[in-house]
Amino acid sequence: MKNQKQPDAMDSANVIQWDAQNRPLAPDFPIIPFIEGDGIGPDIWAASKSVLDAAVERAYAGKKRISWREILAGEKAQAKYGPANPLPKETLSAISHYGVAIKGPLTTPVGGGFRSLNVALRQILDLYACVRPIRYLEGVPAPVTHPERVDMVIFRENTEDVYAGLEWPAGSADARELLTLVNAKSKAAGGTTVSLESAVGIKPMSRKNTDRLVSMAIRYALEHHRESVTLVHKGNIMKYTEGAFRDWGYGVAREKYGDVTLTEADLYEKFQGKQPVGRIVIKDRIADAMFQQLLLRPEEYDVIATPNLNGDYLSDAAAAQVGGLGMAPGANIGDCCALFEATHGTAPKYAGQDKVNPGSLILSGVEMLRFIHWDEAAKYVVAALKKTISQGVVTYDLARQMKGAKEVRCSEFGAAIVRNMD
Ligand code: NAP
Repeated sequence: MKNQKQPDAMDSANVIQWDAQNRPLAPDFPIIPFIEGDGIGPDIWAASKSVLDAAVERAYAGKKRISWREILAGEKAQAKYGPANPLPKETLSAISHYGVAIKGPLTTPVGGGFRSLNVALRQILDLYACVRPIRYLEGVPAPVTHPERVDMVIFRENTEDVYAGLEWPAGSADARELLTLVNAKSKAAGGTTVSLESAVGIKPMSRKNTDRLVSMAIRYALEHHRESVTLVHKGNIMKYTEGAFRDWGYGVAREKYGDVTLTEADLYEKFQGKQPVGRIVIKDRIADAMFQQLLLRPEEYDVIATPNLNGDYLSDAAAAQVGGLGMAPGANIGDCCALFEATHGTAPKYAGQDKVNPGSLILSGVEMLRFIHWDEAAKYVVAALKKTISQGVVTYDLARQMKGAKEVRCSEFGAAIVRNMD
């Protein structure tokens, strides 16, 4: 690719527009930008693209088709724009212009201006919800006895909490200055003080950002006929941040969705435990207890809304329960654009070996197809992926856990999925 194409007015018929309710409206021939990704990115993207294109062709026989457009980030962007520019502004404007995009994993540049390209993408584009569907795919080796009981979608707040990047190193003048102020305030309120030599970080949480995250989770639950939304927090300890998340979450459910939601208390007191049709139960769980519930009673949890750090831990733990990160899809969604992504990293030791599992990126593509309401194509991919795994045709990561499996390369796995669509 010589030049990264700029969004232009000629493209408008092929742009995924978002309506007033922040839902995407896809034309039949949308342009969807993709970031190939670093490390194993090119291998898994090539396999994923062939699977997604084949499914769209099978489902719509040429009446719908995706025009993929490459945009650059990470090492490819650095090679073109220089080492200081792993996230060019053309890439950011293309994602917001085209409304929906997909990406492979990106290496976090060492010593650059970015803590993480992924965090930067989420914050700059205000992709405030990290959405991680966790479902068991039959045949995938899993570490628990009943992985099929897990079927949940985690909405993790993406823009604040300890990910805001507000932290200062131990012994620095800034940390000391901040801690002097904090100690004076705490002392005046009769509280404890901390050593001025400590490192310090700030955990911001706001009502506005909690409201929009919880609203998105409730809207998802309504549209997908889910039974509950669980607010996962650590409000018993962090009362004004995590505790407020819980209270604001219940608040937005009551104020904006009062006619279609009810609390757990309402469920038992007013409805004797029988959930009325069309109403979603809003409940809350303390984060540590939620990790137990995830293992012991996963079937009681449907949609989860949670602050950034809890969501980070919880989504990886839940993904491991159904067979690992190699197969877990993800998306970052805002009010006017969405970026679908593989949830694992660049696995540099396997770069260029055509070896790894493209499942996470393929399933992220499935979520993208569902998001633009191309459900028929999504079904083709899932059915063929299940069939391929059930035939024991898998990449090395699954093969090492499955008896009698045939280990294939990344590209061969993609090709086998395409064949299984017939
Ligand atoms: P990683 O790239 O996810 O790899 C860790 C291990 O997970 C691999 O060695 C491999 O395990 C397994 N794995 C990952 N992807 C796989 C796949 N598609 N198929 C099969 N196995 C897979 O994590 P990391 O080594 O900690 O991070 C490497 C780089 O990725 C870092 O620069 C990090 O910043 C970046 N990263 C990017 C993202 C993102 O872009 N979303 C996310 C996380 C990390 P085995 O060795 O056991 O085979």
